[in-house]
Amino acid sequence: MSQFWSDLVHTLTPYVPGEQPKVDNLVKLNTNENPYPPSQKVYEAIASVNDERLRLYPDPNSDALKTTLQNHYGLKEGQVFIGNGSDEVLAHIFMALLKHDKPLLFPDITYSFYPVYCGLYGINYQTVPLTKQFEIDPADYRIENGGIIFPNPNAPTGRVLALDAIRTLLENNPNSVVVVDEAYIDFGGESAVSLVQDYPNLLVVQTYSKSRSLAGLRIGYAMGQSHLIEGLERVKNSFNSYPMDRVALAAGVAAIEDQAYFDGCCEKIIHTRENLVEFLTKNGFEVVPSAANFVFTKHKHLDAVDIAQQLRDKAIIVRHFKLPRIDQYLRISIGTDQENQALCDALSDIVNA
Ligand SMILES: *Cc1c(COP(=O)(O)O)cnc(C)c1O
Repeated sequence: MSQFWSDLVHTLTPYVPGEQPKVDNLVKLNTNENPYPPSQKVYEAIASVNDERLRLYPDPNSDALKTTLQNHYGLKEGQVFIGNGSDEVLAHIFMALLKHDKPLLFPDITYSFYPVYCGLYGINYQTVPLTKQFEIDPADYRIENGGIIFPNPNAPTGRVLALDAIRTLLENNPNSVVVVDEAYIDFGGESAVSLVQDYPNLLVVQTYSKSRSLAGLRIGYAMGQSHLIEGLERVKNSFNSYPMDRVALAAGVAAIEDQAYFDGCCEKIIHTRENLVEFLTKNGFEVVPSAANFVFTKHKHLDAVDIAQQLRDKAIIVRHFKLPRIDQYLRISIGTDQENQALCDALSDIVNA
């Protein structure tokens, strides 16, 4: 029945998210969710809005959450944009700020949603190869472009780019918007949000899905100078006036307010990651240095698909990308210490078989 599709729909290659299997007792290390629950304060905030006001539309401008984020990050009025998950925020960014005649640049190995948005919005793009060590080299971005986007830390490699290098990118490309997608920044990187007042071409994107344990609520945000945010608001208000529901707005404020809980979760995950890296290194794996809540690793002899299948047989799922340069790598999310132990036990069996 695809004769009903528009010409555009015929051309699309949609993003394929990591699977969410409906199986109990699975050790799920495939989509970089946080292994720890949200803050208790988040549950209380959700309970406090669970009343008759659900019949009313939520605040179309998400003002209370914007103010909370502004204060938290030391920003000014009009420097925060909020959307239904950072994927929606990114979609608006692609349409509002990255669609130009000159090609958009992003790394060859990166978040696989970027080329999907380019397909959806008809954006011309060019990929820039990471170095052999999977690093972003700002010198490689000295090409005519209509914008630059990359995750920091990068996905799925986990490698982080230092603020100095980001400054170089911003200064070399004053006429392009440089978007830093910081989905994993809280697990070890330094946020570029500190550069917002200095660079009119910088936009920083963050999400509640990873470090704030709220992938299920869909909250993402962008931070930049007000002329960039205004462009995003124009697209948002031409698409959906109410992307954020009352529950998400209340939870979003509460999660930021519980800094101590947040710090504790991030510390635990970083500690578990260090243990996992040590184990992998001792067991014949090469590990890309990670500042994220996952590691990107390949075994010196064993085949990645084979390892993934054997893990699956033991009810542990990890992510494999069948893509050039990385098809021998596995991306493994950091779980609880208990999940990590199960992973290490299973990998021991596999490499010593
Ligand atoms: C997970 C992820 C996102 C999407 O996050 P949501 O807020 O859940 O939509 C965006 N960018 C990168 C690099 C991610 O890994």
